Formats: sequence, structure tokens, C-alpha cells
Amino acid sequence: MIIDWPALRAAAAGVAGRAYAPYSRLRVGAAGLTADGRVVTGCNVENASFGLTLCAECGLVSALHATAPPAVDGTSRDSGTSGTAAPVLVAVAVVAGDGAPLLPCGRCRQLLLEAGGAALLVDTTSGPVPLGDLLPAAFAAPDLSARRDA
Ligand SMILES: [Zn+2]
Repeated sequence: MIIDWPALRAAAAGVAGRAYAPYSRLRVGAAGLTADGRVVTGCNVENASFGLTLCAECGLVSALHATAPPAVDGTSRDSGTSGTAAPVLVAVAVVAGDGAPLLPCGRCRQLLLEAGGAALLVDTTSGPVPLGDLLPAAFAAPDLSARRDA
């Protein structure tokens, strides 16, 4: 799959203009390319409580699921019974309002891991890098299944 990084970065910069950031005044936009060729975006949404602030990547991952085509058999993608895979990100660009790349925060690296895996490419000022390089030895779903009570 060819990744048009300038277009992805431009989409992120465009949605950064829609950010709600009255406290930090740091507008952030994120754009991701899905395995089925869609571009999904998100912007940061701050809150007076600060702890409830949503990063741009949170909106992006929500859009990933909210805009995914329905499963062919009508079952939920997270039911574990349909065998239909959840939508997958393959590339993500996150930028500040000035259009320059920003790295995802720690929470968002974890969020993006579940949406794209360690191979998900993340745009940086020095070029795309696999998410696994930004979040080594990550906690993931297999850690749950291997350790939960029977
Ligand atoms: Zn974040």
C-alpha cells in the first residue's frame, strides 16, 4: 500500500483547525489511513477538568470504528463470534496547528497499538517509524487472555 504522507499530514493539519483547546491553546490534529483505504481524523478536545481531555488520536480511533463498513453478516466486530476483523490503521500523522509533526503521548501510543499493531507507521520529523519502536514491550490483548481467571 502506498502511503501519501503529505496528504495524510495535510488532513491532520486540517482537522487541527477544528480542535477545542482553550486551555493549552495547542491545537492537534491526527489523520490515519486504514487498511481498506479510508482516511479517518480526529482533533483534541480539552475540558476544564483537564483529566477528561481527549487527544486527537482518541477522536481518530473513534472515527475509525464509527465509519467502518458494517460486518457482512451483521454481527458485531467485537463479539468474538463473527470472525470479522476490527478496522485496522496502517499509517498515522499527528500534527500541531502549525502543521509540524507531534509524537503521540503515552496513552495514545497504547490506544493506537490496538488500532494498528506494532507495525503501524507513525509520522515523525525524521520520517515514518513503526509504533513498536515508540512503545516497546507494550501491554496488549494477549496479556489479558493469557492471565485472566478461567
Ligand atoms: Zn494522547
